[in-house]
Parts: sequence; structure tokens; C-alpha cells
Amino acid sequence: MSFKLGLLVLAVSVHAASLHESFNSQQAYAYTAQIAGFGERWPGSPGHTKTEALIHQVMQKDGARVEADDFTATTPRGPVAVHNIIGKFNVTADPKQQIFILAGHYDTLFQKGFIGANDGGSSTAILLSFADALAGQKMKMQIWLVWTDLEEAINSFTGDDGLYGSRHLAQKLTANGTRSRVRGFFLLDMIGDKQLGVARETESNRQLQDVIARAAGQLGYSQYFFQYDVGIIDDHVPFINAGIPAVDVVDARFGRMGPTFDSMGEFYHANTDTMDKVSQRSLEVVGRTILLTVELLDK
Ligand SMILES: [Zn+2]
Repeated sequence: MSFKLGLLVLAVSVHAASLHESFNSQQAYAYTAQIAGFGERWPGSPGHTKTEALIHQVMQKDGARVEADDFTATTPRGPVAVHNIIGKFNVTADPKQQIFILAGHYDTLFQKGFIGANDGGSSTAILLSFADALAGQKMKMQIWLVWTDLEEAINSFTGDDGLYGSRHLAQKLTANGTRSRVRGFFLLDMIGDKQLGVARETESNRQLQDVIARAAGQLGYSQYFFQYDVGIIDDHVPFINAGIPAVDVVDARFGRMGPTFDSMGEFYHANTDTMDKVSQRSLEVVGRTILLTVELLDK
């Protein structure tokens, strides 16, 4: 009896939590609330500076290798300082080590009173929780968490307005020869939506979407993924254009849909994008699914 009990204790103690099991949705929700509490977060605003500081603080705690991608964008508003932030995990000495990128924008719309709890807040926060989960995990791939800046258009997503940070970073990876090592790129956007429904974004890489669907199926989350098709202009586009397999993991139906609402839902780019529209459960579904997908791709 005591011998068997001893074995049981041993068996329990050697089971380390896997990457997706390490995702803490309660903390992800708390990060979202903290970031939304910073208020408007357009580049140059006090809320933007506070968000940057929080990202750096969590990266340091979690032992990431942090890299900055700073530049000045030429916009309809004039020159804007843009700060992409990259947190690298599991970096080895192998110059050919494959890289997987998980990204999301941390800026918000230039709109008075817009705090973007879901649009900007949830993506920033889920990446912070990915960092917490990645700390202490050993993998084959190098994982980059990328907080993109100035995703939002100054006026509208036409011509060269919008996606400033992601366009700069995609061009940089091409120019410095890193691009060929990037196995894939997942963008997370608006995934805190209480009424979660991740679109099958039509420009995204189908094979990688299939792996996400497999991970969701294993976790019992299939109903939340790929139940409708839509094409979205988002930060994944510059990476697709650079030849990197990329998926926009985006909930493109935020609130009620219909002729009187925005085509992405009633709360999209509205000052009603507040914490009451976000749920811990949605962050948990997306967080666990994406991290299990990374585990499956790392095999
Ligand atoms: Zn937006």
C-alpha cells in the first residue's frame, strides 16, 4: 500500500505542465483589464507608454530576449514614432533554428474615448500570458512574441495607411535574411470577444488553419473556430506578402451584425469596446488552442 502510494506521488511529481496547460486565463483577463485601464493607447499617448512599460516588465520577469524595432512612419498625420517590441523565447546557438511568431497589435485607434478592451487590449494581454507560459518551457523552435505598433490606420485602410509596424518588420526580416527561418506567423486580433467566433480568414494559410482546427478539436473547442469565412486586412498581410505562412486568428463579428452596424459588428471601432464585452473564457479558448497548436507544430 505505502509502496504503491509512493509510486503514485512520483508519477504526479514528474508530470510537468505542458505549454497549453500553462496558459493562465485569469491572468490574461487581468492583463486585459489593466491595459484597458490605461485608456487610449495611440502612439505617443500616455496609455501607449504605459503599455510599452508593462510589456517590458513582463518580458524581463519571464526571461525573454527583447529586441526593439523602432522607426518613424510617414503618415497622413505627419511623422509618427513606431515601436514594435519582440520578445524571443527558447533561443539556441543554432543559426538555423526555426522561428515561430505569435503577434498582435498593442496600439489603439486615434479616436477620442476609444479604449479598445478587445481591439488592442485582448491581443496585447494574451501575448503577455503566452510569455508567462513560455517561461520555463523547452522547445525545438524559437518562439517570438511580437507586439506590433501602429496597426490602426490614421484615416482608413487604403493605400499605405495602416499596418505600419508589421510592414516595417516583415521588410526587415526579408532584408536581413531571417525570413527563411520563419516557419509560421499567427496574428491574434479581437479574440477576447465574449461571443467568441474565430473567422476562417480567407487570405490566411490553410494548412496552418487546419492544425489550429485539430488543436481546437482535441480541446473540445471546435465550435469557436472557422464557422464563417471572411477576408480581413490585418497585420498578417505584410508577412504573407513576404512569403511567410501566416494566419489571422481574428474574431470578425463583434456584437450584433446587420445593415445598421459596422461590417465587423456593432462594437467594432466603437467607444463601447469595453471590458464588459470581453470574457476570460474566450481568452482561455484561444490561448490554450494556439499554444497547443504550437506544441503540435514543434513535434
Ligand atoms: Zn482595430
